[in-house]
Amino acid sequence: MSGKDYYEILGVGRQADAGEIKRAYRKLAMQYHPDKNPNDKGAEDKFKELGEAYSVLSDPQKRTQYDQFGHVGGNSGGFGGFNPGAGFDPFDIFREVFGGGFGDIFGMGGSAGRRSARGRGNDLQIKLRLSYEEIAAGVKKKIKIRKQMVCESCGGTGSAPGASMTTCTTCRGAGEVAYRQGFFSVSRTCPQCQGQGEIIEHPCKKCHGEGRIRGESTVEVDMPAGVSNGQYLTIRGAGNIGLRGGAAGDVIVLVEEEPHRYFERHGDDILYELHLSFAQAALGDEVEVPTLKGKAKISIPPGTQNGKLLRMRGKGITHLNTGGAGDQLVRVNVFVPTKLGEQEKRLLKELAESECMQPPRGEKGFFERVKEAFV
Ligand SMILES: [Zn+2]
Ligand SMILES: [Zn+2]
Repeated sequence: MSGKDYYEILGVGRQADAGEIKRAYRKLAMQYHPDKNPNDKGAEDKFKELGEAYSVLSDPQKRTQYDQFGHVGGNSGGFGGFNPGAGFDPFDIFREVFGGGFGDIFGMGGSAGRRSARGRGNDLQIKLRLSYEEIAAGVKKKIKIRKQMVCESCGGTGSAPGASMTTCTTCRGAGEVAYRQGFFSVSRTCPQCQGQGEIIEHPCKKCHGEGRIRGESTVEVDMPAGVSNGQYLTIRGAGNIGLRGGAAGDVIVLVEEEPHRYFERHGDDILYELHLSFAQAALGDEVEVPTLKGKAKISIPPGTQNGKLLRMRGKGITHLNTGGAGDQLVRVNVFVPTKLGEQEKRLLKELAESECMQPPRGEKGFFERVKEAFV
């Protein structure tokens, strides 16, 4: 996405708490609001940028991700969920911040929290633990979630079947009421009808007029190959349904890598520690090693040194969105025997005399070789 510094945009420190971030946004958004700066493209852009910064830093999950990766979401393409270009409205954020604050002062509307004026349901976040094998190949999973669903008894209207509804007199059915705040005319959710525009005479008994009830549903997650810890996938419209037929929120699926008993992940490369006997390393051999896609053979050249990294091309994790794959690196660990019988000791002593058993001097050490292999 962008390399923007959201903290700098809002003029707050990295440790700023939620209140500080909100105050900074309110102050700057007022200053740069297009109503106050007509025909000023610079102010408009700044206003949009403020909205983007606030939408990320005010959401604990997005903020953590941003702090960790410098951006929100995945590397590129359709993965990652958050794309301020699509479906992102800086005016929505402005309304949310100012409208919510106003509601609180009068002791109404505040309990709805982040519910937008349009009555959209909340997002749900689920963690999905994935093994390296699943990450390497990509995986489809069905996950059961508990969420608010449409009440079938009233079809989501919240009104008892057959009962009538009347138009709200406060907002005349618009669901929003406008008020002035400084230079602006700001609208907020109608407190009389909670944005519905209609008043229910007889609430549905099953959902108590909410038009939704808690239930269980299954979401299908199609996780692409190559994802990593902390990245997430957004399934639009799979979250909680809104109040009385309002739009559904999203399900945000957060990736959690499962540690592997054999492998260590380095980007899209996979490291495997191979243990060889001295004889195998000296004479060369062909051995079987586990990979993310089953067992594979690897040949050990004669004279392989301890710490040597052998590379199995394309046996690592598939690159996210771009195709191709990382490698499996196999690090050789030459085993030095610790329990020797009399006969072995005698044979080794005999061998040790030989000229070719003497280690060379002044050659690069193990750590340098490892470093070189990783570049
Ligand atoms: Zn109902
Ligand atoms: Zn109303």
